[in-house]
Amino acid sequence: MNPYEMTLDDVLTRIENVRTRVNQHQIIKLVAVSKSVDTDAVELMYQNGQRAFGENRVQEFKRKSDILTELPLEWHFIGRMQTNKINQLIDLRPALMHSCDGLDMAQEINKRLAVKERKMNVLLQINSAKEDVKAGVEANQAIDIYQQIKESCPNINLKGVMSIGAHSEDEALIRESFEKTFAIYESLEKDGASICSMGMSNDFELAVECGANMLRLGSVLFK
Ligand SMILES: *Cc1c(COP(=O)(O)O)cnc(C)c1O
Repeated sequence: MNPYEMTLDDVLTRIENVRTRVNQHQIIKLVAVSKSVDTDAVELMYQNGQRAFGENRVQEFKRKSDILTELPLEWHFIGRMQTNKINQLIDLRPALMHSCDGLDMAQEINKRLAVKERKMNVLLQINSAKEDVKAGVEANQAIDIYQQIKESCPNINLKGVMSIGAHSEDEALIRESFEKTFAIYESLEKDGASICSMGMSNDFELAVECGANMLRLGSVLFK
């Protein structure tokens, strides 16, 4: 038996249990973060029905997607972006880039997309927990910056927001950071935002409770 069948099943059940309690109509998309496993594990997870995978380094994204090019996978980029890797990322045609950390980065990406006459789906990362080690825009500037990106970056399809929950044992703090992100997401829905990417292995049930519709799960799936 495929070793990941049970873990995927378990995780989907846990998501469904929360989802049906808080929002019957919400569809939740699972991105399996494969950064700490190799392509054999991705392939096994694909055989269980998982299609979307996330990588946080452009080099690894390229290596894995090259090896698995025959499979109809959907690759997401979730890592910190370096300016000198933007062209490479564009060429990999990610389904979604989760981690645009501000207006400057958006404009850099837009410039390179324009040269290549391409578009890319992008999320604005919000540092809702206000932690120095985390990338992203401050919550109180997020709506402004979101709108500036929409206006000044025609080659970026801005799809919504991404955030990493507070790094804490205190559930109330994590909840607060998720609620902050979700409130921003909600007020951006009129501007076409449709994705609220938040929730990782340690806090995904809470994220669903707070309105996440995209989860990025690594260790809980590939253990
Ligand atoms: C690694 C990573 C994840 C997945 O983390 P787990 O705790 O393994 O689920 C999600 N999002 C980002 C941005 C990551 O870097």
